[in-house]
Amino acid sequence: MSSIKIPVLIAGGGPAGMATAIVLASRGIMCVVAEPVIELEPKAGETIPPSARQLFAKLGIEALLGAREHLPCYGNKFVWGSLGEKDFFGGVYGHGWHLNRVHFEKQLRALVQGVIAGGIIGYRITHCMEVDDGWKVLLQDEKNNVMELLCNFLVDATGRVSRVARILGIQRKRLDKLTGLWCVIDTVDQIKPFYTFIEAVADGWWYAAPLQDKKLSLAFMTDSDLLHASMVSGRGYFEAARKLPLINPLVKDISAAQVQPTVYPASTSYITTRVGRNWLAAGDAAYAYDPISSYGILSSLENGFFAGHTIADSYSGDTEAIPAYDFLISSSFSNYLKMHALQYLQETRWRNEPFWQRRSPN
Ligand SMILES: Cc1cc2nc3c(=O)[nH]c(=O)nc-3n(C[C@H](O)[C@H](O)[C@H](O)COP(=O)(O)OP(=O)(O)OC[C@H]3O[C@@H](n4cnc5c(N)ncnc54)[C@H](O)[C@@H]3O)c2cc1C
Repeated sequence: MSSIKIPVLIAGGGPAGMATAIVLASRGIMCVVAEPVIELEPKAGETIPPSARQLFAKLGIEALLGAREHLPCYGNKFVWGSLGEKDFFGGVYGHGWHLNRVHFEKQLRALVQGVIAGGIIGYRITHCMEVDDGWKVLLQDEKNNVMELLCNFLVDATGRVSRVARILGIQRKRLDKLTGLWCVIDTVDQIKPFYTFIEAVADGWWYAAPLQDKKLSLAFMTDSDLLHASMVSGRGYFEAARKLPLINPLVKDISAAQVQPTVYPASTSYITTRVGRNWLAAGDAAYAYDPISSYGILSSLENGFFAGHTIADSYSGDTEAIPAYDFLISSSFSNYLKMHALQYLQETRWRNEPFWQRRSPN
């Protein structure tokens, strides 16, 4: 089998992988993105905060936010501890966004295809082995065709599966069992106002986010061992959503038949080693956040921004670049853990219920 040699292989074409590719292109380093999913499918996660504007500008992708497919998000309405509202109007950055996720990832793909020399290939990484000056990597496409690549540097941007790290035998630690039951439903009228609706319940919490074209992103978050079979069926889920004071008005007119939630892992988790001499992990592959933070997409893009610069700096002989990257993303995660604990402390109505008890400090 003949091998092609490239400078950087990015495994995973989500926000983390694409941001890495954009920065590498801007620094003149050739890379290839290996992403097995060719036809983009709906993916859970759409809300990004107002501060996203700054990072998008740094990545040179601010214009993507102007697409009609993305809606502004003006704040949160919640029943969390008490009934409340937090709007973004007073902040320096203005509004946040409810992204049309498929469209956003299409935009990123189109942009990356235009700037990186190596392109995006429809392969998944299955094996990698360290060789003298980098890696020998095996990739497989959906027809099980296998391709061998040699690369100097490998990026694990494969999301929560953290495939490269796993191949390398690195452990993934989960700090909780959070699981999301998520779906997109068609509503009769466009849901307004453009807020995120968040509602705590005894065994978890719900969120709803209006999307373009009268769609609504709806999720129930709970621990995997607390998830009742009745909730996984669309009917139980729909009935539970209709009992929520804040979310009920958004879903009361829709038909139960179209509600088919999919189960997603959503725990706070991380891999115990995130960098090595010729590799690094970015995005959910490195650190994955609880969706209550609305930080997963932004953090993945930000990791990609730093990852691209780290690889380029390391190519230029900066031996501190890779450890500095690890320090940076690990510090963000430590900060998140503090905020996360405070967030869950604000809900005190179900202190004795397992879901809330597990998230209380005692
Ligand atoms: C229910 C739920 C709600 C969420 N809500 C929000 C929200 O409101 N706001 C927010 O910011 N975040 C949210 N998130 C989190 C957010 O979606 C993720 O943090 C984000 O997608 C991570 O981006 P990523 O690029 O690291 O990984 P991903 O988006 O998971 O991309 C990884 C890519 O790697 C590819 N891949 C997998 N295996 C391989 C392999 N072997 N080889 C090559 N490629 C591979 C996959 O096909 C995928 O395209 C939510 C998550 C969940 C589960």
